[in-house]
Amino acid sequence: MQPPGGSEAMAVASDARRAVFLDRDGVLIRSIVRNGRPYSASAVAEAELLPGVGEACLALRRAGAVLIAVTNQPEIRRGTLDPEVLAAIHEWLRAEIGLDDVRVCPHDDRDLCDCRKPKPGLLTAAARDWGVDLRRSVMVGDRWRDIEAGKEAGCTTVFVDRQYDERCPQAPDVRVSDLPAAVPWILSHLNGGGASNDGN
Ligand SMILES: [Mg+2]
Ligand SMILES: [Zn+2]
Repeated sequence: MQPPGGSEAMAVASDARRAVFLDRDGVLIRSIVRNGRPYSASAVAEAELLPGVGEACLALRRAGAVLIAVTNQPEIRRGTLDPEVLAAIHEWLRAEIGLDDVRVCPHDDRDLCDCRKPKPGLLTAAARDWGVDLRRSVMVGDRWRDIEAGKEAGCTTVFVDRQYDERCPQAPDVRVSDLPAAVPWILSHLNGGGASNDGN
């Protein structure tokens, strides 16, 4: 019979949740590629879920993972994307695939914020709010900024390689062609399997 406060604190410490942090563009929804580089949808009508993403998210959620989208949207700061359109896209996205949370950095490099990936601020703030253990969590992204942010936060990293004509991330833990292809690996990781001992 522990005092309520004490047992609650212990439950949080021993039961910290695991998250799968998901970059949005190029992982969940199709990026618009111009000259080999990816760009965000600028209207709800342009937002298109990538194949297999709904099923992938369902499998991850069933495994007990908290699903959190983490997205840089500097077009907000640059004035080329309406915040209401962004909110509408995220409302649609959450209804489609049942995300627990969507975290946005609306800044540009010149703002020197701590949330624009490759900074880990979006992940660390969400982890605090959701009681998530970052060291047992996974970050999935299609650009070097995602992988850097995941590493900086202490997560295992999954690189979705879209073959963009740009800088590649340094040493992600695993490289896949899309989110569905990463699901078995992520499930094994969330269940305690390591990145280095599964023989491939
Ligand atoms: Mg992306
Ligand atoms: Zn920011």
